[in-house]
Amino acid sequence: MTVTVCLSFDFDAMSSWIYGYRTKSPNALSRGEFGAVGAQRLIRLLQERDMSSTWFVPGHSAEAFPEIIESLLEHGHEIGHHGYCHEDPSHMERDEELSVLERGIDVLVSMTGAAPTGYRCPSGSFSEHTLGFLLDHGFRYDSSMMADDFTPYYCRVGDQVAVDKPFVFGDPIDIVEIPFAWSLDDHPFFEHTRSRRGINPGLADPDRVYAVWRGDFDYLYNKLGEGVFTLTMHPQVIGRGHRLLMLERLLDDIAAHADVEFKTMGRYVESWSRANPFHRG
Ligand SMILES: [Zn+2]
Repeated sequence: MTVTVCLSFDFDAMSSWIYGYRTKSPNALSRGEFGAVGAQRLIRLLQERDMSSTWFVPGHSAEAFPEIIESLLEHGHEIGHHGYCHEDPSHMERDEELSVLERGIDVLVSMTGAAPTGYRCPSGSFSEHTLGFLLDHGFRYDSSMMADDFTPYYCRVGDQVAVDKPFVFGDPIDIVEIPFAWSLDDHPFFEHTRSRRGINPGLADPDRVYAVWRGDFDYLYNKLGEGVFTLTMHPQVIGRGHRLLMLERLLDDIAAHADVEFKTMGRYVESWSRANPFHRG
């Protein structure tokens, strides 16, 4: 029995402010730019612990900070797809979504020499086309959905959803889901934001976040004994000093357990899908 830890970092940098908040404010953009400072700190923190991780990188961030991409590759981290400028697929027309997906792939191919095999949906909401596009473009896995917590599963297309009819489950497709959870994401806990959509107070006490993240890890390790523990973090959020100290403590406490491994999602998906081959229907 092994527990695998997949550390994931969404390197949104300026892109999420430009697309998500529709802002060109130098002050807002500087919050995203701090992501490059956070990224350098994280690369060092992971190097000191010999841990590999997965970075979901919008093409826009990769073009703005090529030196970060180089450093990630040099240190053995995986790079996955996260849109071109953090676009929300559920708000795009089919052709626009496809061209954004392909533009993001093209940037990553040109900078890393390989097509990404993993995807995390910017803003976390697929359109009806997203999973089909991922399948057509050779992706092996996604990490944006929540139908399980510590156990991967195959994604599904063609669910039938209506208020006046029973839910009909669609068909599985050969894309592995590495479950995501808002409670294992640094952004809602820590990032103080204001927009027309409302205010997220953020600025959580890092001890509180440690307790939530550690509680999920302990449940997985002590009660289930096998599975994947996935954290979603953003360099511009987790990269602040007090949060990094919490992350260091958490990673060191987790690493002190027997039978725990730290892997990129891509490598974990390879071994999981060998043990759990895809069956149509
Ligand atoms: Zn993001």
